[in-house]
Amino acid sequence: MSQPDQELNTGSSAVFDSGRLLHAYLVVGPDGTQRDTFTDRLAAALVCSSSGTVPCGLCADCRKAFRGVHPDIIRRGKPADKAVFPVELIRAVCADSAVMPNEAGRKVYILTDGERMNAAAQNALLKTLEDPPPHCAFILPVADPSVFLPTVRSRCAQLRVPDDPAFDSQALADAERFLELLASSPAEAAAFLSGLDMKKEGRETFFRFLDAAAGLAPARMADGRLSPAMWSRLDRALDRAEMYRVHNLNTGYIVGMLTACLTAPAGNL
Ligand SMILES: [Zn+2]
Repeated sequence: MSQPDQELNTGSSAVFDSGRLLHAYLVVGPDGTQRDTFTDRLAAALVCSSSGTVPCGLCADCRKAFRGVHPDIIRRGKPADKAVFPVELIRAVCADSAVMPNEAGRKVYILTDGERMNAAAQNALLKTLEDPPPHCAFILPVADPSVFLPTVRSRCAQLRVPDDPAFDSQALADAERFLELLASSPAEAAAFLSGLDMKKEGRETFFRFLDAAAGLAPARMADGRLSPAMWSRLDRALDRAEMYRVHNLNTGYIVGMLTACLTAPAGNL
C-alpha cells in the first residue's frame, strides 16, 4: 500500500477527519510544545473511536490518549545511552505492529529522534511503511525532514507545524487563557477574543491562536476542565472559523461568529 507524499496544513480540518486519516505522518517543526501538542492530538485522533471530526475528546480512547496512558499509543526513541536509534528497536516496532491493538481500532507508533535513525534503521522501517498493517499508524516528529531517506519521506504525509517558538508560546498562552475563561464565563471568553482581534497583530497571529485553542481543547475536555456541552459548541465554532478562513473572511467577522456560537442560549443553537 502506498502513502501519498503530500504536505498538509496543520490547521486544515481535513487532517482531523476520521475518514481521511493516513498510515504515516512526518510532523515537521522545531522541538517544542507546539510540535508535541500537535503530535499528541494526531495520536489521539488516530485512536479516537468517534466518526467525524477527531479526536472527539469524549470517548474512552481520547481520555486515555490525553492522559498519556493509552496502551495503543507507543512511543519509541533513541535510548539515552545510545548514539543512534538502534535498528533492533525499529525491528521490534515493526514486529509489534503486526499484533492487533489492545483497545483502539489502531495502534499508533510515535517515533522520535529521527535525526538519529541511520540508513539501516530507516530501511528497516521502510518495509513496514510500504506495506503497513491496516490497524497501524506511524507519527515521526522531526525538525528537518531531510534527515529521512526520500523513500521514507515519500511514504509519509508531511504536516508542518508553525516554526516561530516565541510566537507559538504566545499563541499557546492566549489559547490557555481563552479556554480557562470559556469554562467559567463564555461572555468573558468572547471579550478576550475581541481583545485579541483589536491587537491587530495580523490574521496569521489570530489563526495560530485558533489552531492552538483547537489543539488544547480536547485535553481540557478529557480532564473535565471544559464541559462536553461547551466543547461541542467550541468544536463546531472552530470548524466554521476554518471554513471562513478558507474563504478569506476577515477576522472581525470570524470573532463575531465565534462570539455568537459561544454565548448563544442553548436553545438557539
Ligand atoms: Zn474520541
